[in-house]
Amino acid sequence: MSTFSAPKGTYDLLPPDSAQFLAVREALSAPLQRAGYGYAETPGFEHTKLFSRGVGESTDIVSKEMYTLTTKGGTELALRPEGTASVLRAALEANLHRGGLPVKLWYSGSYYRYERPQAGRYRHFSQVGAEALGAEDPALDAELIILAHDAYRSLGLRNFRILLNSLGDKECRPVYRAALQDYLRRLDLDDETRRRIEINPLRVLDDKREGVQRQLADAPMMRDHLCEGCKAYHEQVRELLRDAEVAFEDDLRLVRGLDYYTRTTFEFVHDGLGSQSAVGGGGRYDGLSQMLGGPELPSVGWALGVDRTVLALRAEGIALDLPRTTEVYAVPLGDQARQVLFRAVTALRREGVAADFAYGGKGLKNAMKSANRSGARFAMVLGERDLAEGIIQVKNLESGEQLPVPLDRVVAEVRAKVG
Ligand code: AMP
Repeated sequence: MSTFSAPKGTYDLLPPDSAQFLAVREALSAPLQRAGYGYAETPGFEHTKLFSRGVGESTDIVSKEMYTLTTKGGTELALRPEGTASVLRAALEANLHRGGLPVKLWYSGSYYRYERPQAGRYRHFSQVGAEALGAEDPALDAELIILAHDAYRSLGLRNFRILLNSLGDKECRPVYRAALQDYLRRLDLDDETRRRIEINPLRVLDDKREGVQRQLADAPMMRDHLCEGCKAYHEQVRELLRDAEVAFEDDLRLVRGLDYYTRTTFEFVHDGLGSQSAVGGGGRYDGLSQMLGGPELPSVGWALGVDRTVLALRAEGIALDLPRTTEVYAVPLGDQARQVLFRAVTALRREGVAADFAYGGKGLKNAMKSANRSGARFAMVLGERDLAEGIIQVKNLESGEQLPVPLDRVVAEVRAKVG
């Protein structure tokens, strides 16, 4: 123990669990890399204003959960609470949208929200995200949903569902918004929710409290207000998903509360996670670029939570089949053997074989214990007598079989055995 511990709402990733985490991150991004998405990396902090505009002043993320700071030079910065605003900012700044459209980007990293911590909800968490910028095409919306679906499936996950909705566009949404506000203003709600009706009425539909939900039973629904264009667009997305054999559920209450979110919106929920069941989510945000001072750039994207995906694997009892971290473990007995064996380990590593070494002058018994603990398939044992004879003992740790191999051939032979 040290006198310090990790801050509240955070946790450390350490072996052996960290290997699963890394594999999840890779599995979530692999389908994107096969679909033309290029890697983007942006700073961990941005100008606070980017998020108050790009996520929305009225959201909990911005109003309550953002970690903000003022630099010594007086600049207002915030740790990034999400990825879309940053990635769009970066693409616009680099003029990527002046090339071919859509610009397809993926990213992966740490995000920060000052939330009340609980199982599956942390103040520091990890996402893999994807954004397709500058095209209005239902196939692009479908592509992203399919890629996320396939990523979860590639991990072996089964108990997740896809919730799908359309939020309309700048034609039909304002009409619906006004109808919804009309309805909500007549309900018995607390002051904060009343304020929300004026700024962000769709968000009220998302209120989890039973007293609120009960009053929403007859609320007008976006679906009944969709214009012909939005209806046709949504139907095409649904059709493409069905065609790809991706099951989804229409969820008419699924919302993103801000005006620049349009049309397709979706969420991936896992049924083994309790209250923090969303493992990923996203949607179309045709108005965001203009909110950030950019050109009209209709776009769609998602973010998948790595932490919760790891929890979902655990909930389904799935242990990922990970490559061994060590294939060969070298056990030297004596100083001279140590030098020779260390040379062999370096050569093996340079040949691409994962090899480790009994450091710290351990005796044979302890060193073999470490070899077994490392998960290696083979041990190379070199004692003084072997050295004099010019051989190394190569032991198969699974079968116990041991063979002497001439020193000058050991690297080639062990590499062949490892395959
Ligand atoms: P959002 O940006 O809120 O749409 O979140 C996208 C995904 O990130 C969610 O579906 C979660 O899987 C994950 N996520 C969001 N907030 C947290 C958090 N505080 N702790 C862990 N995962 C989170």
